Amino acid sequence: MTARIIDGKALAQQVRARIADDVARLAAEHRVTPGLAAVLVGEDPASQVYVGMKHRATEAAGMVSRQILLDADTSQEDLEAVVAELNADESIDGILVQLPLPGHLDPNPVQELIDPSKDVDALNPYTAGRLAVGEPTFLSATPYGVLEILRHAGVELAGAHVVIVGRSNLVGRPLSVILTLKGRDATVTLAHSRTRDLAAVCRQADVIVAAAGRAGLITAEMVRPGAVVIDVGTNRTEDGSLTGDVAFDEVREVAGAITPVPGGVGPMTVTMLLQNTLEAARSRRGLPRR
Ligand code: NAP
Repeated sequence: MTARIIDGKALAQQVRARIADDVARLAAEHRVTPGLAAVLVGEDPASQVYVGMKHRATEAAGMVSRQILLDADTSQEDLEAVVAELNADESIDGILVQLPLPGHLDPNPVQELIDPSKDVDALNPYTAGRLAVGEPTFLSATPYGVLEILRHAGVELAGAHVVIVGRSNLVGRPLSVILTLKGRDATVTLAHSRTRDLAAVCRQADVIVAAAGRAGLITAEMVRPGAVVIDVGTNRTEDGSLTGDVAFDEVREVAGAITPVPGGVGPMTVTMLLQNTLEAARSRRGLPRR
C-alpha cells in the first residue's frame, strides 16, 4: 500500500481564503477588523522566522498585525507591562508571546497574564482548564490544525485509537484532551520518552500523531498497515532543510494516509491561529461563532 499524501499547504490555502472572506464580512457588517499582536523578545532566528510568517499571514487575511519587538535583556516586569497594555487595547483581539523566551524570563506568569478572551495561543492555564472540563475555549493552534487535517481527510475519530507521541503543553497534551472530549470520542494513548516499547504501542494505533521533535523516530515497523500518520515534528537536518519525526519514505509504503514535512501540519498551525483571532474578534463583541 502507498499512503495518500495529505496536502496541508493546499488545505491551509482553502481555510485562509475562507477566513479572509469572514474577515471582510465582519468589516462590512460590523466595522470590526480583528487585530493580532505578537510579542518577540530577543533575536532568536527561528522565532523571528515564525513571527514574520504569522505577521504576513495575518495581513494577508485582512487583519491588523502588530509586532512588538523587545530587546533580549527586557525585564520580566517590562514584558508583563507590555502584555497588560495589550490586554487593555481594544483594537487587539489576540495576543501571543513567542516562545522560547530568553533564559532570565519566566514564561508562566506572562501566559497567565494574557486576557483569556485574547488567548489565541491557548497557553494560559485558565484556557487549558476550560478545555479540560469541556467548556468552549480556544484550541491551541497546532492541535487545532491536526484536528482540521483529520476532519478534512475524513478520518473517523469516534472509537478510533489515536497514539500521540509527545506530551508537551503546546502539542501532545492539549491534543489528547481535544480528541477525548465527548463528540470527538477517540481513545487516546499519550506516549512520551518513558513509554515502554513505543513500537508496540504505535502498532495498535488507527492514527499516530508524532510530536516528539526526534527526526525519523516513527519507522515503518511501528505503523499498522493502513493507519493514518500525522507528523507534527519539525527538525533541522545538517544541510539546514526541514524533516519530520516520521521516516516518511518507508512509512508511506505502509500507512493509509500521511502528512509530509514540510507542507503538512506547519501551514495549518498558522492558519488556525488566524481562525482563533477571528473567533476572538467575534466573541469579544458578543457575535456568535460562524
Ligand atoms: P517538547 O516540548 O520538546 O516535547 C517533546 C515531547 O516528546 C516530550 O513529551 C518528550 O517526552 C517526547 N519525546 C521526546 N523524545 C521521545 C522519544 N524518543 N520517544 C517518545 N517520546 C519522546 O516539543 P514540542 O514543543 O511539543 O514540539 C514537538 C515537535 O513538534 C518539535 O519538533 C517541534 O518543532 C514541532 N512543532 C511543530 C509545530 C508545527 O506547527 N508544525 C508546532 C509546534 C511544535 P518527555 O515529556 O518524557 O520528555
